[in-house]
Amino acid sequence: MSISDARKVRLLMELRGGGVTDARTLAAIERTPREEFVSGPFVGQAYDNAALPIGCNQTISQPLVVGLMTQELALDDRAKVLEIGTGSGYQTAILSRLCRRVYSIERHRPLLREAEARFRALHLHNVTTRLGDGSRGWPEQAPFDRIIVTAAAHDIPPVLLEQLKVGGIMVLPVGDTEQDLLRVRRTDSGYDIHSFLAVRFVPLVEGVPEE
Ligand code: SAH
Repeated sequence: MSISDARKVRLLMELRGGGVTDARTLAAIERTPREEFVSGPFVGQAYDNAALPIGCNQTISQPLVVGLMTQELALDDRAKVLEIGTGSGYQTAILSRLCRRVYSIERHRPLLREAEARFRALHLHNVTTRLGDGSRGWPEQAPFDRIIVTAAAHDIPPVLLEQLKVGGIMVLPVGDTEQDLLRVRRTDSGYDIHSFLAVRFVPLVEGVPEE
């Protein structure tokens, strides 16, 4: 077993201990090489249970948080998923193995370009990306079975609630410096909201930067 395999096994045990018990989620994490999603100086830390810098002042999310958010989405291979905040593309790659198609939006062009190159290299052909402000959702493709937001908003963006199918699930961090991870399920008559973890994410920012 290589050093990186041994580190991966250790990380998977840590995720199980932290509550990621769903076998499909764990298998998707196991099959996704996190070292391909971090830049040179951080490759040695790719299997640490930590968020790491990816450029543009952003971070690749902590593996435990990726695992717990993925698990809460309860994906199946028919699901059409919207992701806000492509970042490195790591969470996107995991989702892509568990659903029919992922539509992922990122506001930083350099991050999006790098993530797209990774999807091609890993032959992840069911990912569609867009440069833009994800707080507006993706109206042309709505409604979605699942929505995941990987940047923190002050409140649940109403547009995203509208773009969720009845019976659908959205997972997102809400709050300012510290956030609660919320699982929102759309019902026939409204939305059931349940908070499942305290987290720290980078903020959801409106608009697209000039680059
Ligand atoms: N899931 C990513 C997390 C990256 S951090 C990963 O694991 O790599 C969150 C990302 O959300 C950042 O790349 C940030 O640029 C992006 N983001 C923030 N606000 C956004 C918005 N309004 N629309 C689209 N992307 C946004």
